[in-house]
Amino acid sequence: MEKTDILSLTLSELEEEILKLGEKKFRAKQIFKWLHVKKVRSFDEMTDLSLELRTKLAVRFCLNQLIIVRKLESCMDNTVKYLYELSDGGHIETVLMEYSYGMSLCVSTQVGCKMGCNFCASTIAGFVRNLEPSEILNQVYETERDSGRKITGIVLMGIGEPLDNFDNVIRFLRLVSDHEGNGLSLRHVTLSTCGIVPKINELAELRLGLTLSVSLHSPENSRRSEIMPVNRTYNIDELINACRGYIEKTGRRVTFEYAVIDGVNSSHEDAAKLSALIWGMNCHVNLIPVNKVKERKYRSSRESALKFQKYLMDMGINATVRRTLGSDINAACGQLRREAEKGKQR
Ligand code: SAH
Repeated sequence: MEKTDILSLTLSELEEEILKLGEKKFRAKQIFKWLHVKKVRSFDEMTDLSLELRTKLAVRFCLNQLIIVRKLESCMDNTVKYLYELSDGGHIETVLMEYSYGMSLCVSTQVGCKMGCNFCASTIAGFVRNLEPSEILNQVYETERDSGRKITGIVLMGIGEPLDNFDNVIRFLRLVSDHEGNGLSLRHVTLSTCGIVPKINELAELRLGLTLSVSLHSPENSRRSEIMPVNRTYNIDELINACRGYIEKTGRRVTFEYAVIDGVNSSHEDAAKLSALIWGMNCHVNLIPVNKVKERKYRSSRESALKFQKYLMDMGINATVRRTLGSDINAACGQLRREAEKGKQR
């Protein structure tokens, strides 16, 4: 029988499994605490369980691990970028960032990405597979173990499209916020999507209390379809409608991500169209000068982003230029993994 991935189980599922092993139900909570509070790496570390039970667990379950392959520490700020290896040899990236209010972690949700946004490094080598809930969770736990810091905020903005791995991402969110376990408030979680409309609607229904961040990058369908193929399936009107629905259902403000690209989406006219599009919405625009990706020609600068911000502010739109953390360590998503995968091919 194939072993069950114990770290992906909810407490009630674990209780069922433990009963099936002929053990008392309360053992499940004890094990759940070892996994999600003490965050042990092996069944042997669960020292208040009998050796017999620990052996039973090791036969029935597996406990996934991530291996640190590379770790880049920024000399400009305290950003640390991890390249993790999965049990099947695939690679993902995780970035730890320090803010005045605590440590925030940017996690990956897939190995590669199928969305094809043409300014993004994560998509260049295509899609490999979805991450399991335990593999998303282990990015949090392994980074905490390595850094010795408690992670108080999570952004789902690493490699992959979270809403294209919906069930595993939702399960991860339930696990990471479980009061019997890690207990992170979902108010401190931001989920970023390229705009998969039906899944935004589904997420709104769950009312999880997290912040939805939508990668918009252009207020115009023809241009957006050019840089983000997902727009050919769900266009801007459908996307903005879904965002309005999300705000209405959850009472939460939506963030629009906008990578400012010289000559592509940063004119005064773009700002005017953007402002007309989102006028009156409970939202915020996050501007970021597009990060250079070796394989791509796009360019930008902080000055371009500040100029675009001024256009928007003058039109009454709330916009900030995101602080770029760890630019010396290539913290933009997907770039380190690209290098590792290229290395494997050589
Ligand atoms: N798939 C999700 C989350 C991963 S990308 C999404 O599309 O939102 C996280 C954010 O980084 C997105 O806003 C994405 O558009 C942006 N991004 C990707 N490549 C970038 C680059 N080269 N420069 C600036 N932002 C980039």
